[in-house]
Amino acid sequence: MLGERGVFPEKFVKSMRGTLTQGGLVIVTLQPDARALYDGRTLAQYKDQIVLGFGRDAPVNQSVLFTRGETARAVDFKLAPRAYVEQRIDGLPPAFVTPPAEALAKIKREAASKRKARGELTLRGGFAEAFIWPVAGRITGVYGSRRFYNGEPRRPHYGIDIAAPAGTPIKAPAMGRVTLASPDMYFEGGLIFLDHGLGVTSVFMHLETLAVKVGDEVAQGDIIGTVGSTGRSTGPHLDWRMYWADQRIDPALLAPPR
Ligand SMILES: [Zn+2]
Repeated sequence: MLGERGVFPEKFVKSMRGTLTQGGLVIVTLQPDARALYDGRTLAQYKDQIVLGFGRDAPVNQSVLFTRGETARAVDFKLAPRAYVEQRIDGLPPAFVTPPAEALAKIKREAASKRKARGELTLRGGFAEAFIWPVAGRITGVYGSRRFYNGEPRRPHYGIDIAAPAGTPIKAPAMGRVTLASPDMYFEGGLIFLDHGLGVTSVFMHLETLAVKVGDEVAQGDIIGTVGSTGRSTGPHLDWRMYWADQRIDPALLAPPR
């Protein structure tokens, strides 16, 4: 859909790219004096671009309100629904399936620091770059799958798991600013957040080593750390996740097909 307007009218929109699907992210270039409201709020713009992201279970019926001068129009559109597979992970230490009471305070603290790290919407253009894969390797887990750990149902998997030897360098898939860099999170182990702008954030989990710190600006392809098996993990792999605002989106839809 590159360079097309898709469902959006020319009065408000110049072009759109991305996929209107659950788990999808679209980048819309507005006409210079147009605005867009989604879910009751005006969307931030970077160089006339706005971003919309749709979570795993986002409603298929969607609407954006466009305004330009005195004109306003609500545009309804549909998302393609996704079907998600089931995946069972066995052989985990029980403490990662049901954390012991003494771990709960650490887990709660970490949840707060993760929320804080994604709390600020910034104006930078990493989201609009053509993303690259952070590591090469076999895909061992996909976005959206229903997860069972040691047979117990848990939250769905929101990342893409890429198996690679421990120590494999991880590249920034697009430019961004490091908003979290922690070597020892309870579930994620070595963890990095990279803010690509307009609410789009990449998350990298289970790292063996971190090569960046909070505040660092990285370009696409820069090494940010190495693959490991820290946290809730059964072998060396990178778990790459993405957010738009609080919506979890599918990184595999942004990186090139493989
Ligand atoms: Zn994973």
